[in-house]
Amino acid sequence: MTAAATSSQTIVTLDMEGVLVPEIWIAVAERTGIDELRRTTREEPDYDVLMRYRLDILAAHDLSLSLIQEVIAGLEPLPGAGDFVRELRNRTQLVILSDTFEQFAAPLMRQLDMPTILCHRLVVNDDRITDYEIRIDDPKRRAVKAFQGLNYKVIAAGDSYNDTTMLLAADAGFLFHAPDNVKAEFPQLPAFDEFDDLFAAIEGHLS
Ligand SMILES: [Mg+2]
Repeated sequence: MTAAATSSQTIVTLDMEGVLVPEIWIAVAERTGIDELRRTTREEPDYDVLMRYRLDILAAHDLSLSLIQEVIAGLEPLPGAGDFVRELRNRTQLVILSDTFEQFAAPLMRQLDMPTILCHRLVVNDDRITDYEIRIDDPKRRAVKAFQGLNYKVIAAGDSYNDTTMLLAADAGFLFHAPDNVKAEFPQLPAFDEFDDLFAAIEGHLS
């Protein structure tokens, strides 16, 4: 018996916040009125410092995980994101690669019919967030590399700096809803702002 020829199949990897759903911490800041929670990686590039700062604020205000999850459950995916995800999953495989946490993503992923998501996890004791666990360093790029190692062709899209290693490692990488400074710094990545345009670009790479 001769072995069947191998052919690579396609998988799409998408960032979550800024691409499919609003920025979660900004929304939590708005709903709780705690302005200090607006600080992002733009003001504090060290993610660990930023997360410790956020956890301290949550503790100072005695904010429970369930309250934050209620806030997040009140958020909606960005306009058009639901249809985009549905159509994409009708055509090919989709995995969300995010730097958020399982407990924050769940209320939003339910609204998108629970696509597979790879992200991090919060440490929770008695409904209070006491710490966080990074599953792996450089998770987005390493996921792309792992899928390629399984002979998948990877098409990726994301909006920000934490996506660029994933976008550059992918067989095709696109910026979506990216701010001007990111677009200017990565002119080799085609940039889109409408779901229809991103869908067409992805479709062009489906085999
Ligand atoms: Mg993002």
